[in-house]
Amino acid sequence: MTSAATEPARFTLRCTRCGAEAAPRATACAGCGAALTVVHALAPGAPVVDPARAGLWRYAPFLPIIDADAAISLGEGATPLVPSRSLGPALGLRRLFFKMESANPTGSYKDRIASVGLSRMRELGVRGWAATSSGNAGAALAAYGARAGMRGTLFTLETAPRAKLTQILAYGPRVLAIRGLGYDPEVERRTFQTVRGLCEANDWAMQITAHVFNPVGMEGARTIAFEVVEALGRFPDQVYVPTGGGGLLSAIHKGLREWRAAGPAAGPGASRVVCVQAAGCDPINQAWREDRALRSIPTCTSRISGIQLTAPPDGDLALAALRDSGGWATSVPDEAVWAAQRQLAQREGIFCEPASAAGVAGVLADAAAGRLGADDVIVCVITGVGFKDAAAATALSEGVEIPVLGLDALAGHLAAEKA
Ligand SMILES: [Zn+2]
Repeated sequence: MTSAATEPARFTLRCTRCGAEAAPRATACAGCGAALTVVHALAPGAPVVDPARAGLWRYAPFLPIIDADAAISLGEGATPLVPSRSLGPALGLRRLFFKMESANPTGSYKDRIASVGLSRMRELGVRGWAATSSGNAGAALAAYGARAGMRGTLFTLETAPRAKLTQILAYGPRVLAIRGLGYDPEVERRTFQTVRGLCEANDWAMQITAHVFNPVGMEGARTIAFEVVEALGRFPDQVYVPTGGGGLLSAIHKGLREWRAAGPAAGPGASRVVCVQAAGCDPINQAWREDRALRSIPTCTSRISGIQLTAPPDGDLALAALRDSGGWATSVPDEAVWAAQRQLAQREGIFCEPASAAGVAGVLADAAAGRLGADDVIVCVITGVGFKDAAAATALSEGVEIPVLGLDALAGHLAAEKA
């Protein structure tokens, strides 16, 4: 027997309900069917950082992978934490920061999930992947899948705007649209089941970006928390997270909690997570406000793409994260989200997609309600770059005319404008 076989595993996949250990490629508990989570079992005092590695792979000792040298990487992670220069001070908030996930290789935080998820699956010998998405997760998986040489199959909506698929198609995965998906709840329910079955039949890695389908990949998203604490030299008081399915919020909470337990000592900070949803599609926040279990909502009236989920797959985990961290839920109307997107661009120089601006809209609402202290250390996660939502980006400049002038007319035009 080799020593490796007798050493306890550095990480295991375990059931969130019954605690049973699951097979490395499982996506649900074989015994009770509940969601799985990665449990790290580092030796006391073992380092969680490998300073020789770059980006999120710096945290390789704290990620579910055996051989980080074989990781599929495009330079994801290590995104900037930018202090607010205008919006924060105007609200009387002295320590507001933006975590620029838009700086990842395909333009969103989903790269962290794709990099960790596909690296681990390839390590386990998987040669293909499948997921449902018409947005940021699809682009991330398509890019990292191409780099890994893993054939991908992406299931999308019949009605998905072609513009949203452009980036995905550039990386060359197989894309199939499912008839009825997106407007028929029965089709929605059966889609996940069918995709799970196809993954098993074809030996594909199930890469839908939610803990309930892809607990290994979601470990990548929690490195956002590690980077924030390292950059601040302390824990933040609040982390504002734009929330659709609930996976990002619960991953960040898991990261903060695990860093406090196993990471280097890092000063004060309450580590509350704040769930920001669009008021027209906020099933998690409704459950929070009414102090009840999660229920799906019949319709979504929000137009903020990326966070329109009527039945959030990780909603229960998100509610648990709010309770455990002492956080709260803030819902914001679409108009406030678009206004925040414009303000971020014009007052901070940050061009993000509307869903990303939801977190900032949440800070604006909570500051107005007197919920935030002037010295609170507040972090807003800017989840994706502005180019992602072409229609919303176009709307930002709607009605702006660009005068066409001869060279000799420029000075006169500017003088007339001043007058
Ligand atoms: Zn179980």
